Amino acid sequence: MIDFGIYGAQEPRIFAYRCPQCHTAYYPPPMLCAKCSNRRDPSGIVYDDWEKFPLEGACKLLTWTRVWALPEGYDQPYLLFGMVEFPNGLRASGRLEVESPHLGMELIAWVAESSERPGHPVNIFLFSEAAARPLPTNLRCD
Ligand SMILES: [Zn+2]
Repeated sequence: MIDFGIYGAQEPRIFAYRCPQCHTAYYPPPMLCAKCSNRRDPSGIVYDDWEKFPLEGACKLLTWTRVWALPEGYDQPYLLFGMVEFPNGLRASGRLEVESPHLGMELIAWVAESSERPGHPVNIFLFSEAAARPLPTNLRCD
C-alpha cells in the first residue's frame, strides 16, 4: 500500500450527506430532502450545508454484473461491477474486486482514485472481501 500521507495528499473519499433537520442520509445528495423538504445549499450562503460523512466500510452485495466489452486500453477480458447496500441503508455502485461474487455476500467498500478514463481523475468505489485495500484491477502490476 502506498502511504500518500508523506506527500501531504489526502486519502480519496466519497461522501454521503445527512439532512440537518430530519437526519435522513443520502448518497448522492439531493438539493431538497425528500422527507422534510429542507434545502441543501452547497455554498452555505443561503442555507447551511448538510453534514457530510465518508461512505465506506462494511456493506452487502445486492447485485453485480460482468462487463466483457471493455474500451480500448484494458488488458483484461472483463471487469466486475456491483451495487451494495451499507448498514445505514444507502446504496452505491462500483468496481467489484471479488473472484466469485454471490448475492448477499458481506463486502468492504474502499475508495480509490481512478485515472483510467480521459479527464480529471475521479474517486471510485472498490468492493472487496478482504480487509486489505485492493487496487483497481487495471492498475495491478501482476
Ligand atoms: Zn430532511
